[in-house]
Amino acid sequence: CSGTMELLMLENFIDGKFLPCHSYIDSYDPSTGEVYCKVPDSGKEEIEVAVEAARKAFPSWSSRSPQERSQVLNRLADLLEQSLEELAQAESKDQGKTLTMARTIDIPRSVQNFRFFASSILHHTTESTQMDHLGCLHYTVRTPVGIAGLISPWNLPLYLLTWKIAPAIAAGNTVIAKPSELTSVTAWMLCKFLNKAGVPPGVVNIVFGTGPKVGEALVTHPEVPLISFTGSQPTAERITQLSAPFCKKLSLELGGKNPAIIFEDANLEDCIPATVRSSFANQGEICLCTSRIFVQRSIYNEFLKRFVEASRKWKVGIPSDPSASMGALISKAHLEKVRSYIKKARAEGAQILCGEGVDRLSLPPRNQAGYFMLPTVITDIKDESCCMKEEIFGPVTCVVPFDSEEEVIRRANSVKYGLAATVWSGHVGRIHRVAQKLQSGLVWTNCWLIRELNLPFGGMKYSGIGREGAKDSHDFFTEIKTITVKY
Ligand code: NAD
Repeated sequence: CSGTMELLMLENFIDGKFLPCHSYIDSYDPSTGEVYCKVPDSGKEEIEVAVEAARKAFPSWSSRSPQERSQVLNRLADLLEQSLEELAQAESKDQGKTLTMARTIDIPRSVQNFRFFASSILHHTTESTQMDHLGCLHYTVRTPVGIAGLISPWNLPLYLLTWKIAPAIAAGNTVIAKPSELTSVTAWMLCKFLNKAGVPPGVVNIVFGTGPKVGEALVTHPEVPLISFTGSQPTAERITQLSAPFCKKLSLELGGKNPAIIFEDANLEDCIPATVRSSFANQGEICLCTSRIFVQRSIYNEFLKRFVEASRKWKVGIPSDPSASMGALISKAHLEKVRSYIKKARAEGAQILCGEGVDRLSLPPRNQAGYFMLPTVITDIKDESCCMKEEIFGPVTCVVPFDSEEEVIRRANSVKYGLAATVWSGHVGRIHRVAQKLQSGLVWTNCWLIRELNLPFGGMKYSGIGREGAKDSHDFFTEIKTITVKY
């Protein structure tokens, strides 16, 4: 399980051991377009071995006290933190994001995920109530579900994977995790810390490979009663269909088409830089990124001018460049998909005010074939256009005017997604009124992406089913039972 001369060779981690695979998938460095890593192309066979290991580990792990499990999670957090720089370098190379982002967001949050659930597992209580007239006491207990199947995407690789592993094992489950085949390196690095932290063999198994092959083998395994999935809506649809015959417990965290609503009384000094960030952070590859900006007509021209100016200054560069705000997109296919939306917008008569190609970038020769593009701002576009309805998941945002509060709420709610919205206004009544009427699992007002991990995270409509957070994740990763005692 080590990097060979040139190509990094990953291996599955099952029952506390690294195991080679029969075949491998190429993994690309998004900033150069070169293959630099080989990811196991696992399937049913590997899932069978992992299920066996997870089943064997469950009785002992699930009967440990929350305090003991909490200590193991804290040790894991410490080990990750000690290797923060190494993990950040790996995440940035594998995903294309800036090293600054990996260093300040991805890896610190991965560490925090373990610390957070190490602490929150100590504070859950259950309910009780009595029926005096019948002499009955009722109470509830929560027990771990069993083997949890965890499937995560490529945009925030270790961050989102640990956001699932930590609550699952804190609650006493054993897990089989399948990271995205596009970004598997930090998950593989995490395996190296598991034994050291005292995670018993079989409690965390990580199996690499593609969705249709190993992902589906996990989803359809009868001994995996629970699937926690973060990814796209079409994949969630497939997972829902495949898991229906097994009546699996599902948590689905999906995409968004997130609106920002900017009223004429907004503080533009704060709003403009925050909206540039919410549109283009992590190359626009965050499910919470803003992709529809509704601006009240009286300030529309001023906002647009200043927003485009600020977007042009948002520097695209190689991931290790400390002055870059944006790195490379995840893959060639994704870059082409994102650019195809811009082409469609242009064909519909929309204006592209900045962005798109990389002709204005001066990249080192080695990075000329990397998957870079500029922050792109589209305007003069109809609400019915696919750029205003579908998730693009790249550095592309649309800016359109609106006239009234009622109208903008209706338009913001008119898409199939409902993940995150932002509202900018100086009027406290309006903020509450609008926030409460938006069909969105999260609403940030006069800010963006400030997370309180205790509170529910997730989307409405096609953005998902279920919520994650201290109580919500614990509820998902446990079964509740009501017990009645007649005294
Ligand atoms: P994706 O759906 O293509 O893949 C996600 C994961 O599912 C990967 O590990 C993939 O291998 C696996 N997969 C694919 N097909 C599968 C199948 N048939 N059976 C089982 N597993 C399968 O998504 P992506 O392109 O990796 O990620 C981008 C999407 O994720 C966007 O839509 C984004 O909005 C969403 N996302 C949502 C959140 C959230 O918290 N709501 C967070 C991050 C990303």
